[in-house]
Amino acid sequence: MKAISPNLEGSKDIRGRLLRDLRISVTDRCNFRCRYCMPREVFGEDYAFLPHEALLTFEEITRLARVFARLGVHKLRLTGGEPLLRRDLETLVQMLRGIPGIDDIAMTTNGSLLTEQRAKSLQKAGLTRISVSLDALNDDIFMTMNDVHFPASRVLTAISAAQAAGLTPVKVNMVVKRGINDSQVVPMAEHFRHSGQILRFIEYMDVGNSNGWCMDDVLPAEEILSTVHRQWPLQPLFPRTPGEVATRYAYVDGGGEIGVIASVTRPFCAGCTRARLTCEGQLYTCLFGNQGHNLRECLRRGDSDEQLYEFIAQIWGNRADRYSELRLAHTPNSQTKIEMSRIGG
Ligand code: SAM
Ligand code: SF4
Ligand code: SF4
Repeated sequence: MKAISPNLEGSKDIRGRLLRDLRISVTDRCNFRCRYCMPREVFGEDYAFLPHEALLTFEEITRLARVFARLGVHKLRLTGGEPLLRRDLETLVQMLRGIPGIDDIAMTTNGSLLTEQRAKSLQKAGLTRISVSLDALNDDIFMTMNDVHFPASRVLTAISAAQAAGLTPVKVNMVVKRGINDSQVVPMAEHFRHSGQILRFIEYMDVGNSNGWCMDDVLPAEEILSTVHRQWPLQPLFPRTPGEVATRYAYVDGGGEIGVIASVTRPFCAGCTRARLTCEGQLYTCLFGNQGHNLRECLRRGDSDEQLYEFIAQIWGNRADRYSELRLAHTPNSQTKIEMSRIGG
């Protein structure tokens, strides 16, 4: 087999955006039923999740990650569904960390299965960072949102476990939905100030077709920031890396930093360097995509690394996605989009 040398200049799409990050969903299953992601009316008892053989194996994921690394990807993020439901995730992390060019392996989790021991074994395997999702401190609100009666205190324990294991700085993702958990913006900010953990407010997005999204439910970043700023003045920080999705702010009094991910009101498509791999091996070049590219088929019919490289390079080279910019311009979109639990956020 012919060896493929790395693409040192990186792969650019037709808008000049480099391919830098790959999000890998390892399962479409989840033990939560967050109203904004997997509402139980849609993801109920008889919902047909993928059978195990449909999922990419760890070997298949690693092989693809290697090809992506040659195309310029240096950061991987494991997600889902709930990634910690996939058995033996440490083995996958170990396999990924040996890939030349990959210098960051992160994970996003709801924290429900993240014990201290699990955090340590993931760190030992090579995980570098972790983001834990938590939408409220108040249990009534949090349980209404996760819809499985899961208490906030157990997610807080998971966050501490991640911190103790050195998966730092731990980021805490809070999706803000107007009228549902906006009352939690200040308590969450207060809790995570001075903790070393970075709270990130995420605007509620119209991902997939199941969550009944409407603009009135979105609490715009501007409102979130002014609410926090009134209590504890904030000042903007410069982005650490190009294409960073969260806009960062520091508390003027030294309480640490927060971020806002304002993909609805301040789209960042122009700097979007991310590809997404679903658990069954579909490649999407946008979170709001309606058409994936079947890499599993390429793998299972025996394509060589070179063929995979060419195929992915061509897909990225033709990429023109800018869904959030178009949404802001009120361009209607009635296409069927992939669900968040399958693409992984
Ligand atoms: N289950 C894991 C978790 O919840 O962290 C990982 C997968 S989840 C799909 C990834 C992230 O997407 C979470 O932080 C979640 O809060 C966020 N998310 C899900 N649906 C969303 C929506 N409609 N708008 C904004 N963020 C959303
Ligand atoms: Fe599960 Fe994460 Fe979706 Fe909530 S946001 S339902 S935890 S995948
Ligand atoms: Fe990237 Fe698509 Fe989100 Fe724009 S809408 S930032 S192209 S994922």
